[in-house]
Amino acid sequence: MKMISTRDGSRTARSYTDVLLAGLAPDGGLYVPSEYPKFPLEDLKKLKGLPYRDIAFAVKKKLVDGDIPDEDLRKLIDKAYSEAAFGAVPYGNIVPLMKVEDNFYVQQLSLGPTAAFKDMALQQLGQEMNYELKKRNEHLTILGATSGDTGSAAEAAFKGLDNVVLFMLSPEEGMSPFQKAQMGALSGSNIFNVSVRGRFDDCQDLVKELKQEEEFSKLGAVNSINWGRISSQVPYFFSGYLQAAAHVGDEVDFVVPTGNFGNILSGYIAKRMGVPIRRLIVATNENDVMDKLFKTGVYELTPTHVTSSPSMDISKASNYERLAFDLFDGDAGKVKKYMDEFEKNKKVDLRDYGIGLERLKELGFMSGNGAHAKRLRAIQEVNKKGGFVIDPHTADAVAVGWQYKDKSEDVPMVCMGTALPVKFEDTTKEALGYIPERPKRFLDLEGSLKDGAFYTIDADAEQLKEYIRGNMRIA
Ligand SMILES: *Cc1c(COP(=O)(O)O)cnc(C)c1O
Repeated sequence: MKMISTRDGSRTARSYTDVLLAGLAPDGGLYVPSEYPKFPLEDLKKLKGLPYRDIAFAVKKKLVDGDIPDEDLRKLIDKAYSEAAFGAVPYGNIVPLMKVEDNFYVQQLSLGPTAAFKDMALQQLGQEMNYELKKRNEHLTILGATSGDTGSAAEAAFKGLDNVVLFMLSPEEGMSPFQKAQMGALSGSNIFNVSVRGRFDDCQDLVKELKQEEEFSKLGAVNSINWGRISSQVPYFFSGYLQAAAHVGDEVDFVVPTGNFGNILSGYIAKRMGVPIRRLIVATNENDVMDKLFKTGVYELTPTHVTSSPSMDISKASNYERLAFDLFDGDAGKVKKYMDEFEKNKKVDLRDYGIGLERLKELGFMSGNGAHAKRLRAIQEVNKKGGFVIDPHTADAVAVGWQYKDKSEDVPMVCMGTALPVKFEDTTKEALGYIPERPKRFLDLEGSLKDGAFYTIDADAEQLKEYIRGNMRIA
């Protein structure tokens, strides 16, 4: 199995580790495997009940395809999903199912260091990147911009790694005190937090501006189109399936709260590898570009609304291009034409490319959208029926899941739990009337923010360059 770009008709092959360090393909496409490795049911059966790290190893091994030797891959996985990062959990299951009612579950993906599912991918990505850089005797300076969750998850994953230095830009206004404190606590050694007097867009513009200059053109990225991130999310769909299915071979539905289409794409890959997933249900919030796409075939960019599930406040779902590649049966020329039309007109219709809605259904996709009131109700209902508290993003999944749940059939439905409620206490309080007890490690997080944890600059490239030059320690 080799990696190819969604927009490269010549199908130039690259290895897993080259793609790991590369991000976007040079032609602007995304890397996808030339074919999906198969995971036969007999092998799937053998994974049932195993600790997560064993499942992750078995699945990633197929996706890495020998490019990282097995014994090394195993060590990286053990470090990424260590007890220090995820706590001691029964049976080593760091992605447990929590029952809401019969055949309806939430899969908890947020037990990692920053209490969001992004830890699942970034912990592993950090280990793999550092490993590969060491092997090549290279160092990498990463420059990123965050409006919240990605920043802290990336910092927690890269903290203390020898061959990576990370500069993370965040807007001075707009992040919650909790998010600020989470990032601030990670400053130091190879992690540099830069607070920009401006908005998230200003941070992103600064990143783009620097990368266009020769001196900074080699700066790395950790955004969600990175194949290392996507492939590291596939194993928890295997685990969720094995926990939900009464017998290996039975079908299970998954509902995924969707922003950049990364998480659900990983579920689709699990299905393509052979996990008996029946439906992949896309749950959006009020930013419903993807819901409309699956209902009408039209992919149309619309202005982004600010909602109470902010990590899904996205209108362009970058990873969707990987699914489009399959919809067009791997015809890179068609993908390029389709994406170019989207970039140009901010709107493109699958039906103009000969793809009908039934094709999306054939692949298992369905969709629905959430709204603030539906989220509040989902938080209340899950609390009443299941006795636990979910966050607003998970609530979007639950609300959409219930819409599609047919109680007359016994196909289990698993809603992905993408954050702990402690990250979004205002909405939790609005739903339940109280703030649930925080996990111990977050008890006085906001109070711990130290002076100097952030270096503050204007939204000015010269100030940023000077700061990076002074700290980048590149070999
Ligand atoms: C990033 C994020 C999402 C969206 O995931 P995608 O992979 O971008 O679709 C959903 N919920 C939370 C809490 C997130 O942080």
